[in-house]
Amino acid sequence: MPELSEEEALIQEKTIKEEEEKYRCDLCSKRFKGPEFVNKHIRLKHPDVLAESAAVVRRWRMRTHRATVPADSDSLCAPVAPQHAG
Ligand SMILES: [Zn+2]
Repeated sequence: MPELSEEEALIQEKTIKEEEEKYRCDLCSKRFKGPEFVNKHIRLKHPDVLAESAAVVRRWRMRTHRATVPADSDSLCAPVAPQHAG
């Protein structure tokens, strides 16, 4: 299963299933027949919400990622020998 993007995860979070074939946008309470319609609706009508949340998640991921990088990353900075063509 492919990993969900921040946007997809947020859209799923904002897609409220009320009952069979009744889905609701949690951002404006508009109702739809299926989750894919809510997905399209959120992308069209609430792009600002998506962009903002995606940025927040991305910042948070970067911070957690940085915490896992070993301290001795100096060894990655090996000198690069110049290449001669021919
Ligand atoms: Zn909406």
